[in-house]
Amino acid sequence: MENAIGELLDSAPCGFVSFDDGGKVVSINTTLLDRLGYERGDVIERHVETLLPVGTRIFYQTHFFPLVKLHGRAQEVFMLFRAKDGEDVGMLCNAVRRDRDGQAVTDCVLMEVVERRKFEEALVQARQAADDANKAKSNFLATMSHELRTPLNAIGGYVQLLGMGIPGPITPQQQDMLNRVERSQQHLLRLINNVLNLSRIEAGRVDYVLEAIAASEIVNSVLPMIEPQISAKKLRFDAVVGSDLTVQADREKAQQILINLLTNATKFTPDGGTVSVEGGKTAASQIYLRVTDTGIGIPEAMVDKIFEPFIQVDSTRVRGAEGTGLGLAISRDLARGMRGDLRVRSEEGRGSTFTLTLPGA
Ligand code: ADP
Repeated sequence: MENAIGELLDSAPCGFVSFDDGGKVVSINTTLLDRLGYERGDVIERHVETLLPVGTRIFYQTHFFPLVKLHGRAQEVFMLFRAKDGEDVGMLCNAVRRDRDGQAVTDCVLMEVVERRKFEEALVQARQAADDANKAKSNFLATMSHELRTPLNAIGGYVQLLGMGIPGPITPQQQDMLNRVERSQQHLLRLINNVLNLSRIEAGRVDYVLEAIAASEIVNSVLPMIEPQISAKKLRFDAVVGSDLTVQADREKAQQILINLLTNATKFTPDGGTVSVEGGKTAASQIYLRVTDTGIGIPEAMVDKIFEPFIQVDSTRVRGAEGTGLGLAISRDLARGMRGDLRVRSEEGRGSTFTLTLPGA
C-alpha cells in the first residue's frame, strides 16, 4: 500500500519535496526532479536551498521556514525555484510540518503557476489600457465641457437681458417661456460644470490645499446656503459638532462635499422631516461628519451604485428633485483625494446617513 502511494506520489502531476528542520532534503518526487532537471542524487541530503535562487533563499530563511515552524503549515505561498539550467520556475507551495519517525519534517506540495502568471500579466496590461482610455476620456470631457460653457453662459446672459425688458417690453407669456429657457440653461450649466469637475478630479488635475480646520467651522460656513431649503420645507435641523474636532482638509472642497450632502438630505426629505449633522472621532482617529435625514431613503440594491457618475435612483421619486447624478461621485472623489472617504447607510422609507471621514489634524 505504502509503495503504491509512494509510486503515485512520485509521478503525481505536482512537485513534492520534504526536508528536515536543518533544511536537508529527505525526499523529492520525480515530477519535481524532472521539472528542475536534477537527478535524485543531486538533491537528496543536500540543503533545500540548492533548489532556490538567492532571493528565495532569503525569503525561505526569514519568512517561509519561521512561518511553517510557528504555525505548522503554510498555504499558497508563491516561491521561485531554480532549475539546474538556471531557469526560474514560479511555484505555489502548500507546506505542513509534522513528525515522521521521530523527526520533524516539512512536506511541500508545489504547483507550477505558468498559466496564472500569464493571466496576471494580461490583467496588468488590460488594466494599463483601461487606465489610458480613462485618462483620454477625462481629457476629452474636460475640453468638451469647457467649450460648452462659453455659449451656455451667453444664452443665460441674453435671456436675462430679454427678461429685464432691455431690448423692449415682453408679455407675461414670453416671460414664462424665458423662465423655462433659463431653468434649462442653468440645469445644463450645472451638469457641464459637474462633468468638468469630475473629469478634472479623475485626470488628477485637482490640487488640494490642506490645512487644519475646525470641523464646526466647515459646518457653520455652509449652513446659510441650505437654510432657505430647510425653512421652505419646514424641516427640523440639528448640528452637534464639538469644537475640539479639527480636520486636515482643503476648506473649499470639504465645504463642497458638505453642501452636496445637505442639499441631498433636504431634497430627499419630505416636509416636516429632520436633517442633522453630527461630528465625532472614528476608532482610527479620523474625524467624521455624519449627515442624517429622515427622508425617502435609498433602495438596498442602489446603495452601492449611487456613488457612480450619473446614477440617480429614480428622478420621479421626488418632485422638483432634478439633479445631475454627479454630486456624490464628485464628493467621494474629493473626500478620497484628501485621504478621507464618503460612505452611506440607508433604509428605504426611513432615511439615509452619509458619513464623511477626513484625517484629523
Ligand atoms: P443628484 O442629487 O444631483 O441627482 P447625487 O450624486 O448627489 O446626484 O445623488 C445621486 C442619487 O442618490 C440621487 O439622485 C438620489 O437618487 C440618491 N440620493 C442621494 N442622497 C440621497 C438622500 N439623502 N436620500 C435619498 N436618496 C439620495
